[in-house]
Amino acid sequence: MRQSQIFTKTIKETPKGATFISHQLLLRGGFIYQFASGIYGLLPLGLRVFQRIENIIREEFEKIGIQELLMPLLHPAELWKKTGRWETTGKELWKIKSRKGEEMVLAMTHEETVAAIAANTIRSEAELPVIVNQFQIKVRDEERPRGGLLRLREFIMQDAYSFDRDEKDLDVSFQKMIEVYKKIFKKINLPVMLVKASAGLMGGSDSYEFMVVAESGEDRIAVCAKCNFAANVEILKNKEKCSQCGMEMKIKKSIEVAHTFKLGTKYSKAMNIVCENKKGEKQFVQMGCYGIGLERAMATIVEICHDEKGIIWPKEIAPFDVHLIPIENNQKIYNAAEILYEKLSSKNSDSSGGNGNGQKQGIEVLYDDRKEKTAGEKFADADLIGIPTRIVVSERTLAKDSVEIKQRNEKNSELIKIEDINLLFLIGQKYK
Ligand SMILES: [Zn+2]
Repeated sequence: MRQSQIFTKTIKETPKGATFISHQLLLRGGFIYQFASGIYGLLPLGLRVFQRIENIIREEFEKIGIQELLMPLLHPAELWKKTGRWETTGKELWKIKSRKGEEMVLAMTHEETVAAIAANTIRSEAELPVIVNQFQIKVRDEERPRGGLLRLREFIMQDAYSFDRDEKDLDVSFQKMIEVYKKIFKKINLPVMLVKASAGLMGGSDSYEFMVVAESGEDRIAVCAKCNFAANVEILKNKEKCSQCGMEMKIKKSIEVAHTFKLGTKYSKAMNIVCENKKGEKQFVQMGCYGIGLERAMATIVEICHDEKGIIWPKEIAPFDVHLIPIENNQKIYNAAEILYEKLSSKNSDSSGGNGNGQKQGIEVLYDDRKEKTAGEKFADADLIGIPTRIVVSERTLAKDSVEIKQRNEKNSELIKIEDINLLFLIGQKYK
């Protein structure tokens, strides 16, 4: 993509009221647009990161047979009345009325709707286990939205739901989800800790959170300095000592990036989800639910992957792979950059087939073709936006038939012959 065309602008100054580093850098880098407190739009750069995270999750889910569906944002109130959450949920639940006076709920979560589908679908235990997933908007009337994308009133969540015939099978599905989440967080470069939590609003028996230790976190977890065992402070009975090894526990601030719940039969009883076993007996289905807040995951990555100049995106989720920057405004340099841009970008169409879900396999290039910008301005923007690999074309590099290549997370750059560039990327860390 040509940077002169991109539907976004970088900002030099720190935006007013943005106290968290992820909020500041995502606004300044032109990744997001703020409409109101807790309500944001994702601009092209931000959406690219978002979609890369989404695709990593989708790919891992497909590998273990999770089916994707999509449920509505508008829910009839009667579903929430059936489970009792119309009354028991706090003011975060957004209640509205249609012109005909029908009571509605804006989706805060989707247990009720997925349970309604399951009640109408599941008949026999032979159909189980099954896990379904969606990426869908959630709306919460937060009293105090804060921290940019860390606590939102509207956001997109990956929410999966498991259905099993008994508790033993629920344990298996639950473990399967914990394992796939570990894989996903490793891929998107989030160092998570699995923390036992309280079930809270969801009800049910067992719950784990995936926490990232960060100063900007709102949650408190106790972490053992020796064995790394961690627990949510709310549920920790014996605060001082680790239950695994007896060592001191240290309290740390953290951000919750995913939550898993064993729901048991709370929703299947309310919504009448039953399956018949081999003897012809009917039993209530065991449910679990599993969610990652995508914008929050994105912001959390920025919280831990940045320096004083800007964001340092991990390769797997960067908005582009390469930032191509010609400096010195003369035609020879821009001609060379144009050719390089075409050559690198054309790899996209070369890779036929792909993995079947429309993802590009080649090199995604952001080409800084803004002739009115100085080298200094371009470098400042490049550091702010945080694309992993920077390629600079200048008089000095062209004199050696070369370009200068620098990784965003490294200090030093190196000269590489232009003719070797493809090779470099083909054998590079990402392009095996
Ligand atoms: Zn310990």
